[in-house]
This record gives sequence, C-alpha cells and structure tokens, in this order.
Amino acid sequence: MKQICIYCGSQPGRLPDYRKAARELGRLLARRGIGLVYGGASIGIMGTIADEVLAHGGRVTGVIPQVLIEKEVAHPGLSELRVVKSMHDRKATMAELADGFIALPGGLGTLEELFEMLTWAVLGIHRKPCALLNTAGYYDLLIAFLQHARDEQLVKPSHHQLLLFDQDPHRLLARMIDQAPVAEPRLLTPDES
Ligand code: AMP
Repeated sequence: MKQICIYCGSQPGRLPDYRKAARELGRLLARRGIGLVYGGASIGIMGTIADEVLAHGGRVTGVIPQVLIEKEVAHPGLSELRVVKSMHDRKATMAELADGFIALPGGLGTLEELFEMLTWAVLGIHRKPCALLNTAGYYDLLIAFLQHARDEQLVKPSHHQLLLFDQDPHRLLARMIDQAPVAEPRLLTPDES
C-alpha cells in the first residue's frame, strides 16, 4: 500500500480521543512510508492528521474543491494540494490516488465518502479495502446498524464483510494490508439487477 485515503471530521469533535487517534494513525502512516490522501483542510480532525504525518516526515496529498478553499481553510504546508472543480471530482481523485480507505470519527461528509467507496467495492468498481477506525466507540451504533441490515437480509453477508473495523490503528492497518485486494471484482449478475 503506497497511499491511503483518510476520511474524517472537519470538526475536532467532543472528545480529545478523536484527535489523539488521528495523530496515532498519522505517525503510523509516516513511519511505514504510506502517503496520506485526504480532503486538504487545515481544520478539525482533518488538519490534525495532516499535521502529524508532515511532522514525521510523511507525504500528504490534499484534494480540495475551489469552493471549499476558504471555508475549510486549505492546508498551506502539504506535499501537494490538488484543487479540483467539484465535490464529485474530489471524491473521484481521492479514490484514484489511494490504495485503501479509512474513516476516522467524522460527520455527514465522512459517512458519505466512506459509503460511496464501500458501494463501489460492492459493485466491483475497485478492489481496495475500506475500513472504520472505531475510536472511543464512536462508530458502535453504525456497526450495530450494519449488523441489523445484514440480519434483515438487506445487506449481503459478503458485502457486509467488505467493511473492516477496529479500534486500534495498528491492527486496522495490518488487517487492511493483509486483505488487499478485498474481493474479486463483482459486477451485478442478471438475477441481481
Ligand atoms: P464532515 O465529516 O461532515 O466534517 O466532512 C468531512 C469532509 O467531507 C469535509 O472536507 C467535507 O467538505 C467533505 N464532504 C462533505 N460532503 C461531501 C461530498 N458530498 N463529497 C465530497 N466531500 C464531502
């Protein structure tokens, strides 16, 4: 894995644990020589992880739409900042650059980005691992909901297991490296469409 895309909050969140986990993962990426790809902001948990990777000599690529440069305060010190036209371009660029995706605690944007990559994995558009870093139980309810969706037979077990989750960044990263690529590309068959 050469580069990992991290989705996380543009807010710091209530608990210091969220930023602590971002720093831990940032150091881990830098030490392993894995580049960070993220949304390019200097604020919130996004800014924290970028700062930590840079402080430890790692490489950071930010991808930000023109309209968000001011609102999310584009990070001035990145290895590379790609300014793109739209949110769609941002997600597509990040997806292309990265070899895997991890969501740290975050809000609606984080969820939207992670689930798009997960559904692309289901459709066989990519074979890159998707993961949740469940810091301080932040994602417990989401994990329980996904289990419920599986029990209700609205999410297939093989699709459910495409999402890795762990509270420990080291273990999560090791599992992602073990698992890539996650599954055979799997386009819809006629009886499923
Ligand atoms: P949030 O988790 O809501 O704090 O947002 C985290 C990041 O996701 C921020 O950089 C948002 O700009 C970004 N974001 C929110 N919605 C979208 C979207 N539809 N496509 C791409 N990025 C988004």
